[in-house]
Amino acid sequence: MELWFTEKYSQNCGLTINVKNEIYSERTKYQDIAFFDSYDFGRFFTLDGYMMVNEKDEFIYHEMITHVPLAVNPQIKKVLVIGGGDGGTIRELSRYEHIELIHHVEIDERVVELCKQYLPQTACKLDDERVEAFYTDGVEFVKGKENFYDLILVDSTDPIGPGEGLFTKEFYRNCYKALNENGILVNQHESPYFPTNAKEMKKAHAKLKGIFEICKVYQFHMPTYASGHWLFGFASKKLDPIKDHKKDEWEKFNIETKYYNSLLHEGAFALPNYVIDLLEEA
Ligand code: SAM
Repeated sequence: MELWFTEKYSQNCGLTINVKNEIYSERTKYQDIAFFDSYDFGRFFTLDGYMMVNEKDEFIYHEMITHVPLAVNPQIKKVLVIGGGDGGTIRELSRYEHIELIHHVEIDERVVELCKQYLPQTACKLDDERVEAFYTDGVEFVKGKENFYDLILVDSTDPIGPGEGLFTKEFYRNCYKALNENGILVNQHESPYFPTNAKEMKKAHAKLKGIFEICKVYQFHMPTYASGHWLFGFASKKLDPIKDHKKDEWEKFNIETKYYNSLLHEGAFALPNYVIDLLEEA
């Protein structure tokens, strides 16, 4: 008998994947987690029924959240990752030998434990010696931190459930304080396409704009996220992702990537007109 995983994007459409089998599922303290093996996307896991990470396209998300800020400030040494329990973002960060510390704040320890067991492709660097793990709410963790991090990456779920607080003004304000003067914040910024996601995207942009001097949005193409068209927010105190793009310095790192490159870095900030309009309305 065929087994299909379905995630609804709206009343009338969604993502459907033919799966070989469900490997494991449980209700953690925070959310439902499930792991599947599939034909076209390899192994994947879901939280509360939403696709999080699969073996086939995860490189796109994890390269774009990481290498864009590192190519704007190649001197980044102190990083805070909030969420990202699958480890894909940390795997990409671990490729920079000069990064000195990575504070990893994940609310749900079970995500980390289960990804280590079932998704080693992304979880393989969670035990890097530069990583210090904190199993707590990222919203609480940033409170009171001052002028410390070069980079904060918010690799979160959507603004419902435990991820909700990571889309608030108070959280963004605390991130601003926690960053040093060259600090950069990159956050999961929803999709501009379906109205429900676009509404959240606009809200997040409006809040960030009121706090950070520089506030941009860049796009990437994610086959298994709603509409396939997804965004990251780039906010900073003084570094502009295009004017301060250190292409040559980044290329000297010799990091082999499957999606990110220096031309794409610049292109990712060139947005379609309807997205520009949405951001202007925000
Ligand atoms: N890159 C994927 C995506 O966007 O679909 C995966 C994101 S990663 C799995 C999201 C993680 O954020 C989850 O493991 C979840 O437990 C964690 N998370 C949600 N809210 C959080 C919070 N307030 N503090 C820290 N971690 C949180």
